[in-house]
Amino acid sequence: MPIFTPGRRWQPPFYPFKREPLGSRLLARVERMVKGPLFGCRMCGNCMLQETAFICPMECPKGIRNGPCGGSTEAHCYVDETRPCIWYRIYDRAFTMGRQEKLLEVLPPLDWDKVGTETWGDVVKQVRKVGVRTFAGGILSRDPATRAHHWDAVFQPVRQPDWWQGDAEYHPPAYTEPISELERRLQAGEFVVTAEVAPPLSTATGKLTRNIELVKPYVAAVNFTDNPSATARMSSLACSMMALQAGAEPVMQVAARDRTRAGLQSEVLGASAVGIRNVLCLSGDSGRMGPAPMGRLDVVDIDSIQMLWILRRMRDEGTYLDGRSIKFPPQVFLGAAGAPFASRPEFQAIREHKKVNAGAQYLQTNLVYDADGLDMWLNELAKRNILDKVYILIGITPLKSLKMAQYMDREVPGVFIPERLLKRLEAAGDGVEEEAITITLELIEAIRAKQGVNGFHIMAVGWEEVVPRIVTEGGLLPAGFVEPKHEEQSKSA
Ligand code: SF4
Repeated sequence: MPIFTPGRRWQPPFYPFKREPLGSRLLARVERMVKGPLFGCRMCGNCMLQETAFICPMECPKGIRNGPCGGSTEAHCYVDETRPCIWYRIYDRAFTMGRQEKLLEVLPPLDWDKVGTETWGDVVKQVRKVGVRTFAGGILSRDPATRAHHWDAVFQPVRQPDWWQGDAEYHPPAYTEPISELERRLQAGEFVVTAEVAPPLSTATGKLTRNIELVKPYVAAVNFTDNPSATARMSSLACSMMALQAGAEPVMQVAARDRTRAGLQSEVLGASAVGIRNVLCLSGDSGRMGPAPMGRLDVVDIDSIQMLWILRRMRDEGTYLDGRSIKFPPQVFLGAAGAPFASRPEFQAIREHKKVNAGAQYLQTNLVYDADGLDMWLNELAKRNILDKVYILIGITPLKSLKMAQYMDREVPGVFIPERLLKRLEAAGDGVEEEAITITLELIEAIRAKQGVNGFHIMAVGWEEVVPRIVTEGGLLPAGFVEPKHEEQSKSA
């Protein structure tokens, strides 16, 4: 195990794709020999140890450089249970050292031209630029602010290249008129409901269309997942286009797992061009959760926070990641996932704060079954002053069976189902579906008035026909709701 990284060095270091000059090769070798045993360094070429409490995050099997993911727990990494979640360790140490605010800086994706090469040369160049004496004098100062300033003068430009320029600041959207109908409703102060509809497993679209028609009158927007559990289905883009044709407002989910930086930018340009206005950025379930044969786990180009940063700049600054300008930028209302029950609330709050700074305008949360536990997360967000900068839609799923509930509690990262609810489902026997609806309605009642909550996101997981009932009985019908005609309802049943 590396001395300063409390994980294990599971992957070999990267090597450059091209032949470097002899001096650089020698320096890289020395860097590898020193930082390998100390930090488990993988020679990523863009070192961020300063921002990660001196723990190298490059052993994260999801490749997340702005972690943790929604599956992080104290116990272990959900992709590989034999190791700790390295991001949990980073957060833990950062809080112990009082360096937690450093975790807010939005860090760039790797520049693969630099991967495998040394970073010390860049540091030396930057020291020269600042002035060796000035730098030495600054970092030896007794004043902590002076020390930090001089340290940052060297290391900040090294870890934040010109093409990225990430920071730890909030960047409000550069527009005022709402981009989408969902944003319009939220801006108007409506308490909204969104619902997830699962994309089909084949080219048949009958059920998809019926489900869209079924939920459309009851919700502000319909989410389409992007290969959930790393399992191929019809694309979220195609489903979103079908929703538009059916007169529904789509939320296109995009998982970083299946995208390169070029693929992300082109897909969102296309989505915007065809009228898709809501995009939800996710890191995506690990390929570990998908069916065999398992694809590569270690090639991850971008994470969800980097996606938000890239898309916000495309929209608000009219630039591609590579700096080219975009004459007609994409118009998208950007969202991200929230995870109230993954790891400790104060850890998750930093992660959500970072998403908001990067560009998230709404959060749709993971499933919530503990209304009181939710308060801890909301309180942490309130302490960070972000509740007025992001709309929060709380994720709920009616637990159709005890087996499903047990599976979700045990297997789905970031989901916690209190024992008392499991017991109620067990006691319900054949009436389990009715009990599931009752529990869902109780949760809605307990959560809807909480400060900072702007709506619900219903993930019915194949039980879409329950959505109208939950919305109606939960008192969540949208403004101007028009009861669908009976024949439409029966057609959908
Ligand atoms: S962040 Fe990159 S350069 Fe720094 S220790 Fe980790 S792998 Fe090495």
